[in-house]
Amino acid sequence: MINVTKPYLPDEAKYNSYVSHIFKSKWLTNNGELLQELERRLAKYLNVENVLLVNNGTLALNVAYKLLELSGEVITTPFSFVATTSSLVWGGLKPVFADIDKNTLNIDTGEIEKKITKSTSAIVPVHVFGNGCNVEEIEKLAKSYALKVVYDAAHAFGVSYEGRSILNYGDISTLSFHATKVFHTIEGGALIINNKKLYDKARKVIDFGIDGPDHIPYLGINAKMNEFQAAMGLCILDDIEKIQSSRQNIYNRYVDAFRLEARIILQSHNNKCSYNYSYFPIILEDEGSMLKVRELLRREDIMPRRYFYPSLDQLNYIDSEFMPVSNSISSRILCLPMYDSLEVNDQKRIIQTVKEALL
Ligand SMILES: *Cc1c(COP(=O)(O)O)cnc(C)c1O
Repeated sequence: MINVTKPYLPDEAKYNSYVSHIFKSKWLTNNGELLQELERRLAKYLNVENVLLVNNGTLALNVAYKLLELSGEVITTPFSFVATTSSLVWGGLKPVFADIDKNTLNIDTGEIEKKITKSTSAIVPVHVFGNGCNVEEIEKLAKSYALKVVYDAAHAFGVSYEGRSILNYGDISTLSFHATKVFHTIEGGALIINNKKLYDKARKVIDFGIDGPDHIPYLGINAKMNEFQAAMGLCILDDIEKIQSSRQNIYNRYVDAFRLEARIILQSHNNKCSYNYSYFPIILEDEGSMLKVRELLRREDIMPRRYFYPSLDQLNYIDSEFMPVSNSISSRILCLPMYDSLEVNDQKRIIQTVKEALL
């Protein structure tokens, strides 16, 4: 069976040597040495001031909202993984959706301003499938209305905007290092915080708000990453160039196959950004065609995913206006298998099956 994604596993002996090290040091978690090393190496690789590792990308979002003291309404995109919205609700905030652009699949900056009210405290955009948002427009809006910006950058590992890491935009960017992402630590995530004071505070907030043996100045939570997770990250970071170059080849083959296919629409990428080859979504003309493509792929034991479906304004715990563009895209988009070890022949079979379904 070919799944939409397949977690990357590094050399087993290398991982085991880290495990032996952990068994000797008996330092399992709480700002361990492997975690510190991974934070340093990631900051360098991602070209950012500092990286705060946490145990998943959803908690990274919740910690970001608390650090920035968000309240009331937060403007976000209806076209994302559910965690973008559920984390807001979990944090006692009200998600207010601004619809997406049908080509970039990112939040439509023109729609954001219409949704700003007296209760709005922040904007939470997503760089969907690694495609960078219009960060300059968003920055302008945030400045003129005094709003905070948290980028859910779960898909944007390694993406740059005009040569600079896109993670530097906004007050905080959050990453996910879940097993299915481009870079992973089994479960994991990170916060990229531009303000040094806030970064120092964040390190305490993710450790119950504790600052020293007898001092608990902040309302905290437990969001710490452990040493076994950090070890996985160190191993995979060694291989990241190799992983990215395989992904790039797979991505290019898909683009070559579908570029001139009139009945398939591909996501338009922000030309000021680099791309990280994280996903390969195809948008069909209507839901029927999408379901037909999915059915023929399934018969071949190929499992694409309806990413993202449903549009988040449809969640039963949300009170929202209907988002026409997001719902339309959601109903006819399919992410094709995309991972570094996807075999050329398997990819050919995927491409052929998609083309047959459209005949
Ligand atoms: C994966 C993902 C998350 C959640 O990250 P976890 O590490 O799985 O908690 C949040 N937002 C988006 C857009 C994601 O794709």
